[in-house]
Amino acid sequence: MKDKKLAKDKKPTNAQLKLMKSLPQVVHLCPVCRAHSGRRKLSWKTRMWAEAECSRAKERGVDLEVYECPYKPDTFHHTHRRPAHR
Ligand SMILES: [Zn+2]
Repeated sequence: MKDKKLAKDKKPTNAQLKLMKSLPQVVHLCPVCRAHSGRRKLSWKTRMWAEAECSRAKERGVDLEVYECPYKPDTFHHTHRRPAHR
């Protein structure tokens, strides 16, 4: 199906696809929010799951924090925590 609006969307990253495949009840793409790259943000069904993913990211040296989606309450996104100083 070709739709101009959809065609503008960047495809989810492999990491996003992998998560959605392994946790189909828990993680989706937010219909509203986008990352800086233009990709849709992953949306977690509960804060607990989002925080669990934060802990996994931390093991890979990625510092994430969880915030509630401003458009869809009760879903949660990650954002990169900015380093305090660089
Ligand atoms: Zn959102």
